[in-house]
Amino acid sequence: MPLQIVHHPDYDAGFATNHRFPMSKYPLLMEALRARGLAGADALNTAEPAPASWLKLAHTADYVDQVLGCSVPEKIEREIGFPVGPRVSLRAQLAAGGTLLAARLALRHGIACNTAGGSHHARRAQGAGFCTFNDVAVASLVLLEEGAAQNILVVDLDVHQGDGTADILAGDQRVFTFSMHGDRNYPVRKIASDLDIALPDGTGDAAYLERLAAILPDLSAKARWDIIFYNAGVDVHAQDRLGRLALSNDGLHGRDTMVIDHFRAIGIPVCGVIGGGYSTDVPALAARHAILFEVASNYA
Ligand SMILES: [Zn+2]
Repeated sequence: MPLQIVHHPDYDAGFATNHRFPMSKYPLLMEALRARGLAGADALNTAEPAPASWLKLAHTADYVDQVLGCSVPEKIEREIGFPVGPRVSLRAQLAAGGTLLAARLALRHGIACNTAGGSHHARRAQGAGFCTFNDVAVASLVLLEEGAAQNILVVDLDVHQGDGTADILAGDQRVFTFSMHGDRNYPVRKIASDLDIALPDGTGDAAYLERLAAILPDLSAKARWDIIFYNAGVDVHAQDRLGRLALSNDGLHGRDTMVIDHFRAIGIPVCGVIGGGYSTDVPALAARHAILFEVASNYA
């Protein structure tokens, strides 16, 4: 069976092409997956919107109602980085539903990936940093609530620290949050994960992969994980507008292989989400995101 991939055409909320958030990366990622033979009918699964009851496991009822009703206060919309109209609201519900579907597929097949997700700056009471709902926190809490998982590990390798995920989950003994990120990047005020590793600007492939290789055995030894959520943000790339860690495409490939190989070798299901990536060259950006799917397909 091919790698199971979750997607939805409305992951693309149709922003203007010059918007700071490169929304067209979603359809271009699907194009890149089709070009690589990864998006056949037997590989694709369509996301469904997460219902309010799931979203409210991770977020305050007030905030969920604001997003679903498109009545998010302007101050919070400014922190998110765009207004929350009907398309952005739907997109956030779909991305959360999509990550949960990918997690369920990972539990069944060992590995699965969402072509969106990794909205790790969304905190319990509000969105921030281009993140509306925290899909990984929502999916984790639904799996725990249903008894589908008891111990969950979040491996967040987006260049930005996973402050929202930490805000929602760090006090929850059932979930261990790990973030390795650029020290000098957004968010300025970080919220402590269960484990944070902050890297200096210009870290580069070799030092990055060395650091990652050293920490993975510690993470897998902490508990018998039922599933890991892997945020494979590509904003660690040298050509990213927001990242500062200077990884190459080979470095991204090495990183994704190292994480997935480590956990699949010991039989732990892996749910991949794409995380951040910012570039005016959106086809090149989509190709960076496609690396996660290329690597994951070797383990399906
Ligand atoms: Zn990021």
